[in-house]
Amino acid sequence: MTAPVLVRTRAELSEALSAARAAGDVIGFVPTMGALHDGHASLMRVARERVGRGPVVVSVFVNPLQFGAGEDLDRYPRTLEADLELCAREGVDVVFAPTVEEVYPGGEPEVRLEPGPKASLLEGRSRPGHFAGMLVVVAKLFGLVRPDVAVFGQKDYQQLVLVRRMVTDLCLGVEVVGAPTLREPDGLAMSSRNRYLDEEQRIEATVLHRALLAAQQEAQYGVAVALDAARAELRTAKTVDLDYLEVTTPDLDPLPVDSPAGTQARILVAARLGATRLIDNLPLTLGVGRAVAAATPAGGGER
Ligand code: AMP
Repeated sequence: MTAPVLVRTRAELSEALSAARAAGDVIGFVPTMGALHDGHASLMRVARERVGRGPVVVSVFVNPLQFGAGEDLDRYPRTLEADLELCAREGVDVVFAPTVEEVYPGGEPEVRLEPGPKASLLEGRSRPGHFAGMLVVVAKLFGLVRPDVAVFGQKDYQQLVLVRRMVTDLCLGVEVVGAPTLREPDGLAMSSRNRYLDEEQRIEATVLHRALLAAQQEAQYGVAVALDAARAELRTAKTVDLDYLEVTTPDLDPLPVDSPAGTQARILVAARLGATRLIDNLPLTLGVGRAVAAATPAGGGER
């Protein structure tokens, strides 16, 4: 187990990757906010598979630009020592952990990105500005690391869709790979924010995955039945305050009412447990009854 090279500045990053670049090695990149867990580790493994002997770079950066007022920027967990150990176990070559000043010298950037209509749906409704801030830092990190392949988790599904779209629309020339969500044995999607949950909330949090599974099981009877099954499951958890529960196409577009059986869709959920906001999602395959309620509004704080 070799420790990764820890770099703090753009210059150090450039130096750490110069030999690989000169050799024409494939460079893999996993952007994170740290507080790493097995979900992040799985992305590093995907990156390793893709790059072979090329370097895997992990960034650890809590990006202030993507946190809104009243969100958890200040209390977001910062655990660099443990993060480095996890990266060492996964054979990561370079960990880029810059300061805010290193990423944003001269303060906030003047030039911003317009993330497009899909950034104001779902997470975007509850977190205005979040995706604009996220895309700016991803674009900057792509500019600094210049990866061939970047791995993102399906756990943050809307983020994955928007990053793909940015790379396509702006011709950034990075292959974006979406990796499956890693879960705790009881189904809860791994998240750096799970550590905020108290004992009771931790138990109740499993309802999100159960709700998505119920929807997956009922999707053969149509979107309305699937959503009802998920809502019924969510109602069993008293402390879970639903933010949204929606079914969309895999690209986050509205699902056409006349979608034929076999149509692929995505169900996405967000909920608060006390001060902690959790998200999750799963794919759905629609069955014959789907037309009945594809247009049923599913958000709006319904339980
Ligand atoms: P974060 O540190 O929360 O910004 O996440 C960094 C990357 O890890 C993002 O691409 C996330 O989608 C991904 N990720 C977070 N949790 C999981 C998980 N449970 N399984 C797989 N990927 C994850």
